[in-house]
Amino acid sequence: MYETYWKELGGKMDFTITGCQSLSYFANTKNLCWFLEPKLEQEIRNLHNNVGNAIVENRHVIVGTGSSQLILAALFALSETLNDPNPVNVVSAPPYYSSYPEMTDFLRSGLFKWAGDAYTFDKDEPYIEMVTSPNNPDGFIREPVVNRAKGMVVHDLAYYWPQYTAITSPADHDIMLFTVSKCTGHAGSRIGWALVKDEKVARKMVKFIQVNTIGVSKEAQLRAANIMEIISLSCQRSKPRELANFFEYSQNLMVERWNKLRNAIKNNELFRVSKFPLQFCNFTRDFTETYPAFAWMKCKEGMDCEKVFRGHKIVTRSGKRFGSGVEYVRVSMLSRDEEFDLFVQRLSNIHGIGN
Ligand code: PMP
Repeated sequence: MYETYWKELGGKMDFTITGCQSLSYFANTKNLCWFLEPKLEQEIRNLHNNVGNAIVENRHVIVGTGSSQLILAALFALSETLNDPNPVNVVSAPPYYSSYPEMTDFLRSGLFKWAGDAYTFDKDEPYIEMVTSPNNPDGFIREPVVNRAKGMVVHDLAYYWPQYTAITSPADHDIMLFTVSKCTGHAGSRIGWALVKDEKVARKMVKFIQVNTIGVSKEAQLRAANIMEIISLSCQRSKPRELANFFEYSQNLMVERWNKLRNAIKNNELFRVSKFPLQFCNFTRDFTETYPAFAWMKCKEGMDCEKVFRGHKIVTRSGKRFGSGVEYVRVSMLSRDEEFDLFVQRLSNIHGIGN
């Protein structure tokens, strides 16, 4: 979706890695996260300070192969610390990101297990709650819902960037996860990072990544650092004139797409999407709604929405996968322009279940 922005920058983003560069597993042996490139750490801290979406002071920065790897690293670190013979319950409030259950149970770990719906979790046992805010799939701002004594929380803030929602305050949680996938659009670089308060937890997360992949690609880290540097520069008043403010640019795109989507279903009784409240964004210094990266669409009661959409050549993910019903689907709002326009066009043509 942000490809055009990066295309317009042309060769300005090019950088060279010579054959003799970055050969070692290590990036900085003095750092707790010894495989984290110092330049990436600096750009992560800068970007958060510029955007104001997370506290970085007194936090350990841990880089991962996407935030996907860090989700597992966090589950490992939190559950291993407990030293409990039983697997720790992992919960999330539906609709939740469909990868959480899959990731949690994939290796049938003895450390943690998927325990499903956070709203109904009432066991007097340790648990880890995954809190995604803004939420994937429905875009709403979220807080923990279990709030019991033996709880630990992982805040997945992949979408807490100004193009998707108002930055109302710097997030200040024990474990916060971010990713370039959703921030800059460079999902293929596979770079995510965690901001972690507790040193012991941070060390265990690093240990997980050490055993899993012995660190994270240096090439990818350096590229991500470059891209984040440009984004930070693009938000400065003193930026080069030809460099458009990335967040302004990407928010405009999101607004445009959401307008197109809402227009396409305006007079359609079959589908609904949520409205989001206006909130003041400290970054843009303006009021804004939330423009989620996904449209969470509700079809008429009893309809298998995924099936209806498939009949109209629209690929979606069924609500079932997110702990909700088949009357919901999740549709990506982040595809390429042509693909998105085709989606809206096909959506406008659905007037009845058999049409
Ligand atoms: N968390 C959430 C909420 C996501 O939506 C995604 C990507 N769909 C991820 C984590 C994983 O992102 P990454 O590409 O950094 O692995």
